[in-house]
Amino acid sequence: MADVSSDPGRWRDVDKLLARPGNIVGQDFEPSPTLREDIGEIARVLVVGAGGLGCELLKDLALSGFKNIDVIDMDTIEVSNLNRQFLFRLQDVGKSKAEVAAERVMKRISGVNITPHFCRIEDKDIDFYNDFNIIVLGLDSIDARSYINSVACGFLEYDTDDKPLPETIKPIVDGGTEGFKGHARVILPGRTPCFECNIWLFPPQVKFPLCTLAETPRTAAHCIEYAHLIKWGEVHHGKDFDADDPEHMQWVYAQALKRAELFGITGVTYSLTQGVVKNIIPAIASTNAIISAACALEALKIVSGCSKTLCNYFTYNGTEGTHIKVTDFVRDTDCLVCGPGTLVELDTSITLLQFIRLLGEHPNIRLSKASVTCRGKNLYMQSPPVLEEMTRSNLQLPLFDLMGKVAKDVIHVSGTSEKNDKKTSCLRKLRVVFKGVADGITSMDTTDGS
Ligand SMILES: [Zn+2]
Repeated sequence: MADVSSDPGRWRDVDKLLARPGNIVGQDFEPSPTLREDIGEIARVLVVGAGGLGCELLKDLALSGFKNIDVIDMDTIEVSNLNRQFLFRLQDVGKSKAEVAAERVMKRISGVNITPHFCRIEDKDIDFYNDFNIIVLGLDSIDARSYINSVACGFLEYDTDDKPLPETIKPIVDGGTEGFKGHARVILPGRTPCFECNIWLFPPQVKFPLCTLAETPRTAAHCIEYAHLIKWGEVHHGKDFDADDPEHMQWVYAQALKRAELFGITGVTYSLTQGVVKNIIPAIASTNAIISAACALEALKIVSGCSKTLCNYFTYNGTEGTHIKVTDFVRDTDCLVCGPGTLVELDTSITLLQFIRLLGEHPNIRLSKASVTCRGKNLYMQSPPVLEEMTRSNLQLPLFDLMGKVAKDVIHVSGTSEKNDKKTSCLRKLRVVFKGVADGITSMDTTDGS
């Protein structure tokens, strides 16, 4: 493969963005002929996902001047990926997507260094994610997005006026595609809505009402879902349907075909049956390319300041014609993930039991029967009984010790709140600060002068 980066005109367009002043540049933008080189040296980007979107992202970021890129993906290459995950070849089937993708891009674009991580995102320490200036997501899973979002928002700190501290903001650029539709968004925790603030943007998967399936089918998909969801259970009492068993699929197909004939509906095929039953949405290479381009550009804008960033959610729909829209969503200021939470100042001597009592009396909290967790660790749980018993001994210990003797940290509490005689269970985020504890200074920081 030819090395495209040695072409003298290679960086002409990127340099136009970075070397010239403009009217819509960011506040601190300083154009410079060496800015591209500087970004290449300094900026560290993490790409999460090396699939359809991930392959495009790695190529686009490398061609935008980023030189220090890491990519993480737990998947291996399958034959069905090859039509769009263009960095992979037939002989790569079975190998790690992250490893092969990194190798291919580095071979093609000299000077770029891509470090692959063939593992689950949860396998990495939280600190791993803090080393990056920006995290770019090329994922198809809501859970994975939610996880990275919570990790990035976990680095966010607020000052005493509930203003986010700029140096603790870890930007995320999130891309996603589904068939002919896609989105790109910029998440600046504390400033723009985080993934959890707008979780309602991801509606539950479309399900047909059972009455439509049973009585008034109108489409081939209705006939297939009738055979799959209703007829299968009627005929095969207690036997689970297995979507990976070709005999099961064939049976559903035959039943759907019968039903379609009965209602004069056309279009039931075996592959449509597979698609509907397994909820397969075809992946479109062009959609990935468009969304990835938008994401890579936002990443460049964030690190360089060469233009204002997307504010804050871009949608693309190529189903009928081409529709593009940008929506400025608002933050949920009470968001449990990115919101500031209620500031609570405590003495280091307060025990967990005293703290739980305080939660009931605190004018801004008023939470009774509280369970307390910190960084995923259960400090005290009211229920189930087995967890209550396991955590009961913590009640007499100082909260400061239980939280690892840090000056401040975020904890989550759940319990019952009472308003107008109505009891509701709720979950709250608290920003705990211990009085008289120096922030961020440990003995190691002060003794090691080298
Ligand atoms: Zn949020």
